[in-house]
Amino acid sequence: MDETLDPARRSWVATANDHPEFPIQNLPFGVFSPPGGAPRGGVAIGGRILDLGAALDAGLFSGEAERAAAAAAGPVLNPLMALGAGPRAALRRRLSGLLAADGAERARVERLAPRLLPARAECTLHVPAAIGDYTDFFAGIHHASNSGKRIGREPPLMPNYKHVPVAYHSRASSVVVSGTPVRRPAGQRVRAGAGAPSFGPCERLDFELELGAWIGPGNALGEPVPVGRAAGHVVGLCLLNDWSARDIQRWEMPPLGPFNAKNFATTISPWVVTVEALAPFRQAQRPRPADDPRPLPYLWDDGDQREGAFDVAIEALIETAAMRERGTGPHRLALSNVNHLYWTLAQMVAHHTCGGCNLRPGDLFGSGTISAPERSGFGSFAELSDEGRTPLALPTGEQRSFLEDGDELVLRAAARRPGCVSIGFGECRGRIVP
Ligand code: MN
Repeated sequence: MDETLDPARRSWVATANDHPEFPIQNLPFGVFSPPGGAPRGGVAIGGRILDLGAALDAGLFSGEAERAAAAAAGPVLNPLMALGAGPRAALRRRLSGLLAADGAERARVERLAPRLLPARAECTLHVPAAIGDYTDFFAGIHHASNSGKRIGREPPLMPNYKHVPVAYHSRASSVVVSGTPVRRPAGQRVRAGAGAPSFGPCERLDFELELGAWIGPGNALGEPVPVGRAAGHVVGLCLLNDWSARDIQRWEMPPLGPFNAKNFATTISPWVVTVEALAPFRQAQRPRPADDPRPLPYLWDDGDQREGAFDVAIEALIETAAMRERGTGPHRLALSNVNHLYWTLAQMVAHHTCGGCNLRPGDLFGSGTISAPERSGFGSFAELSDEGRTPLALPTGEQRSFLEDGDELVLRAAARRPGCVSIGFGECRGRIVP
């Protein structure tokens, strides 16, 4: 823990103090466009974004921090992600010092504020990296178990589940930033009672409450990443909604897995919440029940088991058109926690690379749907409505089994711990359009 995490540190950027998501202890990286400007790297601080290019031009950095700021100032963060933890942490320390209320250079930086710190609400946020590859895991054990139960599998988990961090290679080109409308996909599905498939709009459009992980330094082709060093390949986290067309999925899955059911859109929150900012919220991985198999040695590291999990509350909310009209605000569908994941991010990295597959800076992992054990924490409509058999009653009097046109789905997260300043992730939001 260094001074950037000091809970007593305040910022001269007034909106940062007591900000529920972006206090000075967070400082997540993102890519934004100021009004009329081109995409560039920035750092969220309260209600503002620090423009890294403008700060570089003002000569505010030197050494390692300058190298990292230059790598983060462009239209994608891949060069920053490639640098690794040293320069990134140096930049974080420098930014924290520049923005601190008692910082030595406060007067100088505050004078630059008008061009250095545009208001976040006036800026457009972008997907923060050029995503080469996107892999979606299945590490939410309660979601995996619920999926098995719904189709009557006994036991509900597949025999490989507790041995293999299961995943599929998903689609990078359709990853979109929060706020991008999501068009209801059309596809091939077999309607209830029909013997043959038909083509048309998805009738079982779902969300998945997931964590995203940004890969930093990559590994060379043919050189696996050992699990004990795997955490160092993760730069930071975001929220990820793996939109899923359940009717299309059910028909197309066998035998090679999801395809069109999941490749039409994946929404992510725009900010890369760094592992440095999340350090206070690390915790031990939940102990495996005594009768669970011990993972193979390439997936096991004592240090990773001690601190490889994250205590981050994660929630999904729906805002229907009726809720918007009435101004009631969104309704919570699920509240869960990232610490329900059965596999750590380090285990995912180790498994992904164990056969020699190379990861590259800016690759994106999805965790899998993070359902809690109880219904109030189920992270998809398939689970919440039992595949449409038990529609959910909403406070407006509406019912939902799956998403309807005009519905907005919002993911949020908060990391909290006594004695620490809470941080958030920003929203992961998308509205369904016909
Ligand atoms: Mn998923």
